[in-house]
Amino acid sequence: MYDIIIIGSGPAGMSAAIYAGRGEMKTLVLEELNAGGQMNYTYEVDNYPGISDMPTGAELSGRMKAHADMFNIEFKNEKVREIENHDGEIKIVKTRKGSYETKTIIFATGASHRKIGVGGEDRFYGMGVSYCATCDGAFFKGQDTCVVGGGNVAFEDALYLARFCKSVTLIHRRDTFRAAKSLVSKAMQNPKINIITDTVVKQINGDTTVSDVIIENVKNYRQQQLNVSGIFIAVGQDANSALAKNYVSCNEYGFIVTDNLMNTNIKGIYAAGDVRNSPLKQIVTAAADGAIAATSAINYING
Ligand SMILES: Cc1cc2nc3c(=O)[nH]c(=O)nc-3n(C[C@H](O)[C@H](O)[C@H](O)COP(=O)(O)OP(=O)(O)OC[C@H]3O[C@@H](n4cnc5c(N)ncnc54)[C@H](O)[C@@H]3O)c2cc1C
Repeated sequence: MYDIIIIGSGPAGMSAAIYAGRGEMKTLVLEELNAGGQMNYTYEVDNYPGISDMPTGAELSGRMKAHADMFNIEFKNEKVREIENHDGEIKIVKTRKGSYETKTIIFATGASHRKIGVGGEDRFYGMGVSYCATCDGAFFKGQDTCVVGGGNVAFEDALYLARFCKSVTLIHRRDTFRAAKSLVSKAMQNPKINIITDTVVKQINGDTTVSDVIIENVKNYRQQQLNVSGIFIAVGQDANSALAKNYVSCNEYGFIVTDNLMNTNIKGIYAAGDVRNSPLKQIVTAAADGAIAATSAINYING
């Protein structure tokens, strides 16, 4: 019988594990891939307080894992497939390899960036295709780039990139934007930003890195080639909440709803990091959520 089972070992799960370990809880972390979550896709982390030597995301993951290991946390490389008796005092977490009984569960399953589903998107991921301008934008200093999307994130990304990129073309499939008007007008006034509406990306080309994208007008189907070395895709994020959705309350976008103690609507079940309805999806906020979730779980167990 575990006190706490943490699903996912990104920064939220890892931080929860450290706090659970410090609280001497019998804790199991279940991770389907590599410890570290999305951090493993980050070339360089320059915004985590106190870590100014700018480690790669994979290095930071290793450091967090080593830190959690100091507290004898049990890690298993298994994907959680089902949770039984979710509202009982003893919950059962199931993977292909086994069933684990626990008093509490922390969902730290993260989120995945939504893809546009065109040729070259997967092939050039990390080689010109990015889903995070604040993370990867600096690598495109002085270069031509484009942003795909019409929401706040797409406009914020375009404005951010325009600070140091040679040019930014914002490509949006409609002729109206979901983004705040203030952001749209700022972008329109920026001489480095060119906005192309009613247009979609059809193909991303290159050799080892991105060299150009083929775009198509959705009204007249005219295609053109846009020479860019970076394409930033900002068409939304999907929460990895499929497992929780059937019983834990989620918002209209599928993110788990919590209060500020990371409680879900079910006693003994918590959510932390990108999978929940958090306002900022970064390593530092995920780690903070994990700490709060573990503390709430400890308080629940201790009555
Ligand atoms: C390319 C890129 C660059 C970034 N750069 C930065 C940056 O420089 N600075 C910054 O602060 N943030 C950055 N971010 C964002 C940051 O990485 C995320 O906000 C953070 O990792 C979220 O942490 P998390 O623990 O909530 O989720 P995640 O990191 O997504 O981890 C979730 C984990 O849960 C596991 N999981 C999911 N479902 C299951 C299941 N059913 N069973 C078992 N395991 C499961 C996943 O395999 C994953 O390992 C970047 C993101 C990306 C994609």
